[in-house]
Amino acid sequence: MEKRIHLSLAHMGGEEQRFIQEAFDTNWIAPLGPNVDAFEIMLQNYVSNKNEPLYVAALSSGTAAIHLGLILLGVQSGDEVICQSFTFSATANPIVYQGATPIFIDSEKDTWNMSPHLLEKAIIERKKITGKYPKAIIPVHLYGMPANMSDILSIAKAYQIPVMEDAAEALGSKYKNNKCGSFGQLGVLSFNGNKIITTSGGGALICKSKEMAQKAKFYATQAREDKPYYHHEKIGYNYRLSNICAGIGCGQMLVLNKHIQRRQQIHELYTNLLKEIDGIYVMQNPSPDYASNFWLTCILIDKNKIAVSNADIRIYLEQKNIESRHLWKPMHMQPIFQKHPFYGDGTSETIFNQGLCLPSGSSLTDDDINRVVKEIRSII
Ligand SMILES: *Cc1c(COP(=O)(O)O)cnc(C)c1O
Repeated sequence: MEKRIHLSLAHMGGEEQRFIQEAFDTNWIAPLGPNVDAFEIMLQNYVSNKNEPLYVAALSSGTAAIHLGLILLGVQSGDEVICQSFTFSATANPIVYQGATPIFIDSEKDTWNMSPHLLEKAIIERKKITGKYPKAIIPVHLYGMPANMSDILSIAKAYQIPVMEDAAEALGSKYKNNKCGSFGQLGVLSFNGNKIITTSGGGALICKSKEMAQKAKFYATQAREDKPYYHHEKIGYNYRLSNICAGIGCGQMLVLNKHIQRRQQIHELYTNLLKEIDGIYVMQNPSPDYASNFWLTCILIDKNKIAVSNADIRIYLEQKNIESRHLWKPMHMQPIFQKHPFYGDGTSETIFNQGLCLPSGSSLTDDDINRVVKEIRSII
């Protein structure tokens, strides 16, 4: 059996252990410390735009960041929150933690992300039905591809609804030359094991103001008030990132750009190698406004043209010791979310039925990619 090719593995740069060693040497083994502070500043410098500094709170996961973001936006029981349907369940779950109702929106064909047209339709209809506007909008930059932020932001502005971007998969992706996660009132990052960089587990909330980031850190440390004894006026959470994990993050930030470049190269290689196959489409940036980090390279398979389905290819590749994966199954198709309102036209369902994620980790070699394509060719 040839060696296994994984979808996306953690890829260390080499400096991570130095930061961890420092944490041990100085006994900062806690959910706070110098690595946490340094990691936050590195992230801030990375995502901030030219004339607009941003502020980052490092947290224990991307899911925790989404949950805290909803709390900061005042989402409560009885509220509605608009959420992209085509995503990982972690985008939607925290809406339910808050006792609020997710309203799912289908994708547009160009970006596979939230359709601005369906977003506006939903906002207008929810107001008619419930008498109030949804409390927040969560677009997702899925697989690293930026959502159509210009249109989404202008609709959000017209109805005065705050936007929280789920940029968990899109660290380093750019839309109109600004980084994903920097557009909304809040942005969310994840550093889970298979994301573009990892802290083994971790996340961050990107905020427009220092006060907002301060508030996120306050809620993330059990809402402990500034007193010599433990005094609480709010319900808090244990959501801070550990100083050990943040050390991994500091090391990973040193290789982030290199790793993004490699994922983009891998995407280009797949595009060139698969372009003559009529029936396989490799997902592309829809225009020069979009610069995906190509966290994962995704393909669509037209079964009518090549007589095998996405499921067939996945099983075949698995037999050849190559890991591939179905795309995220949209939330409106999930049993747990089926009772929630959905505004759609079938786009994400079609993409889900035809799609496949190919091995895309930054540690893969050109030979690995050639082997994946050779096996895809041999089945069709
Ligand atoms: C990974 C991911 C999350 C959750 O991040 P965790 O750090 O795993 O909690 C949220 N949304 C999307 C789109 C993700 O891919």
